[in-house]
Amino acid sequence: MPNRFAYDGVVVGAGPNGLAAAIRLAAEGLSVLVAEGRETVGGGTRSTELTLPGFVHDVCSAVHPFAVASPFFRRLPLAHYGLAWVEPEWPLAHPLDDGRAVVLARSVAQTAAGLGGDQEAYPRLMSPLVAHWENLVDDLLRPVVRFPRHPATLAQFGLLGMRSAESLARKWFREEPARALFAGLAAHSFLPLKQSPSAAFGLVLAVLGHAVGWPFARGGSQQIAQALAAHLRALGGEIATGFQVAAMDELPIGRAVVLDLTPRQLLKVAGPELPDSYRARLARFRYGPGVFKVDYALDWPIPWKNAACARAGTVHLGGSMAEIAAAEAEVSAGHAPERPFVILAQPGLFDATRAPEGCSTAWAYCHVPNGSTGDMTERIERQIERFAPGFRDRILARHTLNCAQMESENPNLVGGDISGGAMDWRQLVARPILSPSPYRIPVPGLYLGSASTPPGGGVHGMCGFHAAETALRDLRGRPKGGRG
Ligand SMILES: Cc1cc2nc3c(=O)[nH]c(=O)nc-3n(C[C@H](O)[C@H](O)[C@H](O)COP(=O)(O)OP(=O)(O)OC[C@H]3O[C@@H](n4cnc5c(N)ncnc54)[C@H](O)[C@@H]3O)c2cc1C
Repeated sequence: MPNRFAYDGVVVGAGPNGLAAAIRLAAEGLSVLVAEGRETVGGGTRSTELTLPGFVHDVCSAVHPFAVASPFFRRLPLAHYGLAWVEPEWPLAHPLDDGRAVVLARSVAQTAAGLGGDQEAYPRLMSPLVAHWENLVDDLLRPVVRFPRHPATLAQFGLLGMRSAESLARKWFREEPARALFAGLAAHSFLPLKQSPSAAFGLVLAVLGHAVGWPFARGGSQQIAQALAAHLRALGGEIATGFQVAAMDELPIGRAVVLDLTPRQLLKVAGPELPDSYRARLARFRYGPGVFKVDYALDWPIPWKNAACARAGTVHLGGSMAEIAAAEAEVSAGHAPERPFVILAQPGLFDATRAPEGCSTAWAYCHVPNGSTGDMTERIERQIERFAPGFRDRILARHTLNCAQMESENPNLVGGDISGGAMDWRQLVARPILSPSPYRIPVPGLYLGSASTPPGGGVHGMCGFHAAETALRDLRGRPKGGRG
């Protein structure tokens, strides 16, 4: 009997989650097509010469603890397809106004050694979690609503992580360096630091820094996407780039269709097919703050006041916990902060492929209200100059992206939200809706597998992986039938 389906699996969007979903389906011997709107694969893992010829910049993600720790990516032969990690000596440095810099080193002990009066508290907090990091990641990178595989580890983490970052830092640490370090880590949550569970984000990023580091991909984050795409093709999968999907009927027939899209686009692309109640719930999905990003081509490494910063891949610029908390509170209240918390990465310092000889690159962003179109370049550069006087003299060229430009680069970045939706308590549990199977769209054969599903933002592919697993379970239980 001729196969009435063009493909077993169709995936819309070639971000890390779309590619992960496609790989998981193709690995089961299914025929798979990925439809990607842009001319290149990668979504949030694209790199290109944004500033000058010979300078390679990561358009979105640059720092990859989640990719290295991902239970799915760890199983894939990505090194075989050219993916190599570059590990800076230290994952993170956090300079302070008094000239000191706190360092998140690979070792807990080395980190603690720089924390003065908190040098005993830090290992007491971190070591038990770092010892069980694989179990922790295993449980955190799957839906919260499922029963944990490692309940004891998760409970230990949960008791700490369910707090706000400020309350955890105040309870555990007595001095500014440790508090500031933790505040900077927790600010990656985009949550006000007084809000629970911002502490969880700080803990996870610190644990991963110790367990796997915060590496860059040699040659740029695009290499992650290239390796995933090459592996997919080796499994027989196909990728059609320049295929922007506006409606479901543009897709070839697929027995399972996985969408690497956020709820707002899901409503646009598949709206008429969705049950009213599901549509209404998706419409209530909330997006988080956006980011304003600057990429720099530099004629020299950044002239940090404290030399420790030149040995770290990422540098957090925001000074004290109070200042970082104030900046994040302003963002969540809808204002662009005068002194933003800046996350800066310097891949060009550790990866010679990023810039011509003697030159370097830097990647920096700060949080801003969702949809903001203001220009934060001056404020970001003031924060860099504060800890690296003379930085501006090293700039050969810069490239900026505000929230609206982010979204036009990639429609998944709604209002500049880089996490696929706010990552607060409610949306960590109900992502995109409260359901024991959040990947299943209530239309047979249709699945959601983007960062708007658990476990959320970051380059780990686990949203796509879980969506594909759900589709595979359904395909095994369902007589042949299709949609598209
Ligand atoms: C500035 C920035 C910095 C970041 N930094 C980091 C970091 O350092 N580390 C980290 O782990 N994460 C980081 N992230 C987050 C990370 O990039 C995302 O969480 C991740 O890429 C989400 O993957 P995804 O597959 O769900 O979506 P995306 O990567 O956004 O991919 C979605 C894909 O779908 C395509 N698409 C969308 N609509 C359609 C359509 N209608 N038809 C066809 N194709 C479509 C898009 O073109 C895109 O390729 C950052 C993101 C940004 C923007």
